Amino acid sequence: MKNYYEILGISKEATAEEIKKTYRKLSLQYHPDKNPQGEKKFKEITEAYTILGDEEKRRDYDTRGHGFSSFEEMFNESGPNPFDMFGDLFGQRRQTRQKRGTDIRITLTITLKECYEGPSKEVSFNRTVTDNQPCPQCKGVGVIQRMASNGMFKQVVNTHCNACRGNGFLDGGKFKNERIKFEIPKGIEDGQQMKMRGKGNGVWGGIDGDLVINLKIIPDPNFERRGAALIYQTSTGIIDLMLGHEIMIPHFDGPLKVQIPTLTDFKKPLKLKEKGFLDEKGFKGDLYVYLTPTLPVDLTSGEKDLLTQLKKEPNFL
Ligand SMILES: [Zn+2]
Repeated sequence: MKNYYEILGISKEATAEEIKKTYRKLSLQYHPDKNPQGEKKFKEITEAYTILGDEEKRRDYDTRGHGFSSFEEMFNESGPNPFDMFGDLFGQRRQTRQKRGTDIRITLTITLKECYEGPSKEVSFNRTVTDNQPCPQCKGVGVIQRMASNGMFKQVVNTHCNACRGNGFLDGGKFKNERIKFEIPKGIEDGQQMKMRGKGNGVWGGIDGDLVINLKIIPDPNFERRGAALIYQTSTGIIDLMLGHEIMIPHFDGPLKVQIPTLTDFKKPLKLKEKGFLDEKGFKGDLYVYLTPTLPVDLTSGEKDLLTQLKKEPNFL
């Protein structure tokens, strides 16, 4: 028997998100509604996902391997139903709760500078829209009733409506391209999500899912962020550290001149008030400048003489 990772064609290190995405893609491809030859493969991938898509079962599987005797047995277990993530895309009718379309997840990458500034962004994506027109054949019920007679008995027989495949609604999935403009809040953290209600996929007879935007922040070559603090690190010659000098910091607000005072203690960072990120309470963090002292790579005999001379001076004794 193939292992579940091989069935889904993913590595053992795959993240939960990758597993879900892969399963979604494969099941769209092999779902028997779309691909009558795909049934066996569909069962296989669904079985794999039932295990790998559940954190606990996956851990169990990783340590113990195949532990279940049959596919049916797993489906009888409580736990997430892999079909739930499709909502009614394939026409399974679920009446237990308000139907809701699936969420659309987008990852948006921004720079650290953009995160500082809080830019406007635009995303473009496709979503499924439904007109939710009740099916004229069954009037939105999904079922057609007819009288059947069997000898002397007459009975009402319910049959699945073919016009709408039992969904009750026509026109269940047109792709629509959407463009949405929005503001990214200043100081947003890496991995934070922004949600837009009703901008996800539509579903027959239900409400639309949400658009979920995952923010990913690209590291900056000059700065690092720690909470609301902005960190800058630079090398400074030891003479400059002793005499004091001016440095230029390529700050997001524009170049920032900073005076390094005479005899600066390089073990402590310089703190520049309110030059950092906005925190969630609306307070501005500080900028911390870390100085790394550097030594010359070589000394000429003249320089050695000067230093020897200097060493005799009272402050260097
Ligand atoms: Zn119908």
